[in-house]
Amino acid sequence: MQRRDTDILILGSGGAGLFAALHAHKAAPELSITVAVKGLLGKCGCTRMVQGGYNVALAKEDSVERHFMDTIEGGKWLPDQDLAWQLVTLAVERIHELENELGCFFDRNPDGTVHQKAFAGQSFDRTVHKGDLTGIEIINRLAEQVWARRIDRLEEHRAVELVKSRDGSAIAGVLFVDMRSGEYVFVRAKAVLLATGGGPTMYKYHTPSGDKSCDGLAMALHAGLALRDMEMVQFHPTGLLAGTHTRMTGTVLEEGLRGAGGYLLNGAKERFMLRYDRQAERATRDVVSRAMYSEILKKNTSPHGGLYISMAHLGPERVAREFKGMVERCADCGFDLAAGLVEVVPTAHYMMGGVEFRGDCSTELAGLFVAGEDSGGVHGANRLGGNGVANSTVFGAVAGDVMAQWLGRAQLALPDEDAIQAAVAACEAPFHRKVSAGLEEIRERLYDTMWEKVGIIRDSRGLGQAQSELAALETALDEHGVGDHNRAFNLSWHDWMNLKSLVTVSRAIAEAAAARRDSRGAHFRADFPESGPLESSAFTSLRLHRGVFQIDMKPVAFTRVQPGGTLLRNVA
Ligand SMILES: Cc1cc2nc3c(=O)[nH]c(=O)nc-3n(C[C@H](O)[C@H](O)[C@H](O)COP(=O)(O)OP(=O)(O)OC[C@H]3O[C@@H](n4cnc5c(N)ncnc54)[C@H](O)[C@@H]3O)c2cc1C
Repeated sequence: MQRRDTDILILGSGGAGLFAALHAHKAAPELSITVAVKGLLGKCGCTRMVQGGYNVALAKEDSVERHFMDTIEGGKWLPDQDLAWQLVTLAVERIHELENELGCFFDRNPDGTVHQKAFAGQSFDRTVHKGDLTGIEIINRLAEQVWARRIDRLEEHRAVELVKSRDGSAIAGVLFVDMRSGEYVFVRAKAVLLATGGGPTMYKYHTPSGDKSCDGLAMALHAGLALRDMEMVQFHPTGLLAGTHTRMTGTVLEEGLRGAGGYLLNGAKERFMLRYDRQAERATRDVVSRAMYSEILKKNTSPHGGLYISMAHLGPERVAREFKGMVERCADCGFDLAAGLVEVVPTAHYMMGGVEFRGDCSTELAGLFVAGEDSGGVHGANRLGGNGVANSTVFGAVAGDVMAQWLGRAQLALPDEDAIQAAVAACEAPFHRKVSAGLEEIRERLYDTMWEKVGIIRDSRGLGQAQSELAALETALDEHGVGDHNRAFNLSWHDWMNLKSLVTVSRAIAEAAAARRDSRGAHFRADFPESGPLESSAFTSLRLHRGVFQIDMKPVAFTRVQPGGTLLRNVA
């Protein structure tokens, strides 16, 4: 096993990881900083896939208070209000940094001001963007800046275990598999940032990048950390539905299409959203996805079992001009977005839940920090489109600043060697079993279970069935043997590890969904359809102890505004 030391170890190179690296380096250039990532730096993760854009209150007529209220109301009063306030206020600094220091070009109005487009669920058009491929602009500029600095990279290194110090009081480092050779690498660090980006890829239809399998959340559970809001999985209403023969199925058609006035039609080509919500297609993602799923349950569907999005009434030329990337993506799959109909289905997109953390990105484990989609609490029950990349860049930067400061007091700890050996043995286990086929079957069973029983509409019976099925899948994985013993780029082995993480986190989602006996935002229980009194709002807090989940319902602290209240009255 290789061993290395570093001051700051960052897991993941999305918006959170790269911002953390740049900020830590700026604060203390003498530190050794290592970014370790499952893919290639700058080429993987979901920040690169951001289409629509970045929410930030820039316009004169807008305000951070308005952005805050939209975030709290969108999150159905479950967000941690102090974290949400940090999000909206620091987003203003980060967007200026992205433009003026890091060199991002965002679209502008003819008068030179930054163009901000409409996204659903917002009272103001505040989404900054570069066409409909905003994430490529952000990640390319961030990656260039990281490459230009003395920041170490461990690419194609998969983190498999957060390893504590011998006395268990702090993090000591992280165990990796170097995917190129299959060798184990232990990196000791004074501070570790978990920024592996969540990503609900356990659902039949999903949007996140293929490198994401909830590894960070699974590692956090194994380390005994508390995760909150795990039942809150966001479905994006408009996933492309192009049949099972293409991996394009499930990929997202951006929110701006509905923001611009796109219609959703059922199998009979009727517009149905007004029957479900007064804001129709511009309602929040949870509302629209649920309405669509209800139409699907009525079997009022398109040929592939979904629905349609229609943009033609806005004028094909305008659509082609404003949504060039989307029109091309649809054309690749044989659809004419500008002038015709495109088949869509709600698709699992984002996890509002994640590791419980404080405003300085610290966690309950000394030396372990978290930022981005691995963290929980910023969005509550529903994330507004455009608040995801704001979240990862804002808290990534906070983590970088804080870790650099924190290192003054930190020392490299001696790791728990038994824990390292146990983690290696767990990774090696499938090589010592009888070879079996069937990983694909396990994946399909997982997809179907999560989509049908832990998806957009849930109930006690379905959740109970899902819990049993997930336990069976876990056993099947624990009995699975990998045939090819060559460790270099052994995709079957990595697939097995991906599924191990996904099943662990799926169990957490099902447990939290069973514990929340009401309906809030992304979590809808057909057997408990009411939201319950907002004043006594509580969030789920769950941890894994000796293989068993323990769940608490913890009250939300309304530190800035009480349910029904608003900050807007005080704004000039
Ligand atoms: C198609 C799509 C469109 C989106 N559009 C928008 C939008 O318009 N606006 C918006 O605000 N949000 C959008 N989002 C959400 C947004 O992309 C995410 O919220 C945000 O980018 C997450 O950033 P992150 O840094 O936490 O994670 P990511 O950017 O996903 O980065 C995670 C990193 O962790 C690495 N990693 C994973 N597992 C491991 C491991 N075991 N070991 C080491 N490294 C690991 C990955 O390789 C990756 O580098 C979109 C998401 C998708 C999928």
